[in-house]
Amino acid sequence: MTDHADASEAVREAVLEAADRIESNKKHLTDLDSAIGDADHGANMSRGFGAVAERVAEMDDAEPHEIVKTVGTTIISEVGGAAGPLYGGSIMSASTALSEGVTAETSVAFAEAYLEKLTDRGDARVGDKTMVDALTPAVHTYKKSIEVDDLPPLAALAKAVDACERGVEYTVPLRARKGRASYLDWRSVGHQDPGATSTLILAEAILDIAAEHLEGDVDRDARDPAVITAEREGLDLSEAVEDGNGAPETDGGEDVPETDGGEDVPEMDGGRDVAGTDDDRDAAGSD
Ligand code: ADP
Ligand code: MG
Repeated sequence: MTDHADASEAVREAVLEAADRIESNKKHLTDLDSAIGDADHGANMSRGFGAVAERVAEMDDAEPHEIVKTVGTTIISEVGGAAGPLYGGSIMSASTALSEGVTAETSVAFAEAYLEKLTDRGDARVGDKTMVDALTPAVHTYKKSIEVDDLPPLAALAKAVDACERGVEYTVPLRARKGRASYLDWRSVGHQDPGATSTLILAEAILDIAAEHLEGDVDRDARDPAVITAEREGLDLSEAVEDGNGAPETDGGEDVPETDGGEDVPEMDGGRDVAGTDDDRDAAGSD
């Protein structure tokens, strides 16, 4: 098998794995969307990725960028709402970054193009409680890990997924300022964003398939095991973190990407930190 064919196969597998995981998380995504939206994010993503899986399963001889483009066009045609056009349009546009194949360099270009298209289309920025909050730290971490820290792609991807996960946590204490959740205003505080969550699910699928195709150890759960367990089981995080002083350490605290609000990095128990969020926003707004 040539490198190129291997890349196509890896991309195809990643897409199929992503579709599987969206399907198994359908209820979870719906539950999240029922708290701050209209309870359709699970159904939207499942319908979109179900159709994607059918089409991509047949693309044996396709180039990586053709597969990725098909993911985008299929989502656009199958999924309405906010997330469909945002996901589909951004994936479709960014797919051209992979037209020379999948390398460390082109994958960074893809990630950046995807983030750029998404923010162009949705006009959301970090802190608005959308998928942008999960995607931005993931893309910045990936780029920095490759271009500055010179990490191999798999290690960079593992760090990116870890950053993505923290981005999802970061959405919990935020007040939504884009999408349906923004209609709830303060009542959106304390809930995890569904689109940020589906972004993480997709990123995890990519990482796990990349780990099967690229060499190297994946060490993404380098955080406090108690926190990881608590998150998975929905326990109170403040009890899980022994010193109770906020966000868990990762294997590289200094690698956390700067967003447009570095000081906004979430406290893990921030779901209840409404006043703190208010102050941050008022401070930002009065500048
Ligand atoms: P809808 O909100 O139309 O029902 P979904 O439920 O499928 O669509 O998707 C909701 C998700 O879309 C939100 O959780 C949020 O992450 C994302 N979203 C909504 N508006 C925007 C936006 N303007 N920019 C980025 N993401 C957005
Ligand atoms: Mg919805």
